[in-house]
Amino acid sequence: MKRIVVLGSGFAGMQAVVELERLFRKSPDCEILLIGEQNFVLFTPLLPQIASSHIDPRHIAQAIRDIRGSRRFRFLRSAVHAINVDARRVETATGPVEYDSLIIALGSRTNYFQTPGAREHTYEFRTLEDAVVLREHVLDLCEHADHTADPAEQKKLLTIAVVGGGYTGVELLTDLQDFLFHYATRFYRGIPRAAFRLVLIEAAATILGSIHPKLRAHAMKRLGREGIEIRYNARATRCFEGGIEINGSERLSAATVVWTAGVRAHELVEALPGPHDRAGRAVVNEHLQLENHPEVFLAGDCAAASSEPGAPQVAPVAIAHGRIAARNIAHRERSEPLEIYRYRSQGMLVSLGARDAVVSVAGIQVHGYFAWLFWNALHLYKLVSLKKQFQVAADWSLATIFPRDAAIIRRPRGCKLCEASQGTQTKTAGG
Ligand SMILES: Cc1cc2nc3c(=O)[nH]c(=O)nc-3n(C[C@H](O)[C@H](O)[C@H](O)COP(=O)(O)OP(=O)(O)OC[C@H]3O[C@@H](n4cnc5c(N)ncnc54)[C@H](O)[C@@H]3O)c2cc1C
Repeated sequence: MKRIVVLGSGFAGMQAVVELERLFRKSPDCEILLIGEQNFVLFTPLLPQIASSHIDPRHIAQAIRDIRGSRRFRFLRSAVHAINVDARRVETATGPVEYDSLIIALGSRTNYFQTPGAREHTYEFRTLEDAVVLREHVLDLCEHADHTADPAEQKKLLTIAVVGGGYTGVELLTDLQDFLFHYATRFYRGIPRAAFRLVLIEAAATILGSIHPKLRAHAMKRLGREGIEIRYNARATRCFEGGIEINGSERLSAATVVWTAGVRAHELVEALPGPHDRAGRAVVNEHLQLENHPEVFLAGDCAAASSEPGAPQVAPVAIAHGRIAARNIAHRERSEPLEIYRYRSQGMLVSLGARDAVVSVAGIQVHGYFAWLFWNALHLYKLVSLKKQFQVAADWSLATIFPRDAAIIRRPRGCKLCEASQGTQTKTAGG
C-alpha cells in the first residue's frame, strides 16, 4: 500500500486532496491522508466581515468531513510538529506518520519584520479565531467608550490603527469603518462619530501597491472621503501597550493596533533543507518538488516555484499549486513527464466597504457600485459549498434590513478593558 500524505487543510492542501482522489480513484492500493490542525477549510477573503460583525464566523468555515462526503481520503485532525524528509516521516501530535509521497501546504504566518513589541502588542489577523477576537475587542471598546465622559479618553479607546496598506489592511479597515460609522454611532448613543479615529499605516509611498494606478487612486480617494487617515512612508518601528511608534520618533496612541503588514512561510517550511527565499518560502523547481527530494512537493503560500518566483501569496495560486502537485505525484507513479507550474493572474479585487470596490479582471478596470456587486458575486460563487453560499447570502441580505449582531459571546472576565477598569475600581476602593 502506498501512502500519499498532504499537510495543511487550506486552499492548496484541500485542492490537492480533491485532485488526488480523482486521479487515484481506481487505485485501491493507494492511501490518501490529509493532516490538518483544524477540521475546516477557512474562506479567508471574508475574514474582515467577521471582524465587522457582518457575517457569522461559522459561515466561512467549511467542515472537512462535509467536503469529504463519499470520497475515500482519510483526514487526521492533528498538528504537525516536524517533517523529516530524509526518513520520509512526519511527526504529529498524535504520533509519527510515514509517507511515500508528500505535499506540504502549511501556509504562512505573520511577518513582524522583527519590530520590537509588535508580536506582544498588536492584534494578528490571519485566522478565524483572530477575526473573532478582534470583533469582540472592537465591541468591548464601544461598550466602554459609551460610558466614558472624558472625550480624550474616548478618542484613545476608539482609535484603531492598522499596519499594512495591502488588500487585507484596506479591506479590514473599510469594513470596520462601515460598522463603526453606520452601526456603532447609531446604537451606542454616548459615542459621537468624531470620537472614532481610523488610521492606516503604510511604510511605502502608496497603498495597494500591486493594483492598477487608476484603481489605487480611487481607493485612496474613497478612504479619505470616508474619514480614514492614511499615513504614507510611515514605518512602524515599535509597538507598545496603547500605541505605536512611527519612523522612530512619532507616537500614535491607539487602543487597538492590528498587524497586517506581511507574511512569512510556516516555521516547519523554513526548517526544510534546500534554498529559501526572503520570506522563508522553500524554493522548489518548476514541478514544485523540493531540491533532492522528488517525492516531496510544496504548494501554496509556503512555496516559491523557480518557474514563477514573483507569483503572489493568494488563494488562486495556492489552488493551482495544489492541483499541479497532485497531478505530478500521479505522473511520477505512472512514469509520465511532469507538469510545469505557470502563474496566470486571475485579476485583483479589493472591497472598499459598503457599495464600493476596485476590480481588475482581464485587462478591464472598474470601481464603484458595479465593481462591488461583482466582488460580492464572485466571493459568493467561490465559497466552498451551496450551504455556505446560502448562509453568507442570508447574512448579507439580513444586514441590509436589520442591525448587525453586536453580542459579545465571551464573558467580561476575558475582556482586558473590564479587567483594567475593575483593577482601577479596586484600587480606588482600597485607597
Ligand atoms: C485576512 C486574509 C485575507 C485574505 N484575503 C484574500 C483574498 O481576498 N484573496 C486571495 O486570493 N487571497 C487572500 N488571502 C490569502 C490566502 O488566504 C492565502 O494565499 C491562502 O490561504 C494560501 O493557501 P495555503 O493552502 O497555502 O495556506 P492556508 O490556506 O493558510 O492553509 C494552511 C493550512 O495549514 C494548517 N496548518 C498550519 N500549521 C499546521 C500544523 N503545524 N499542523 C497541521 N496543520 C497546520 C492551517 O490550519 C491551514 O489549514 C487572505 C489571507 C488572509 C490572512
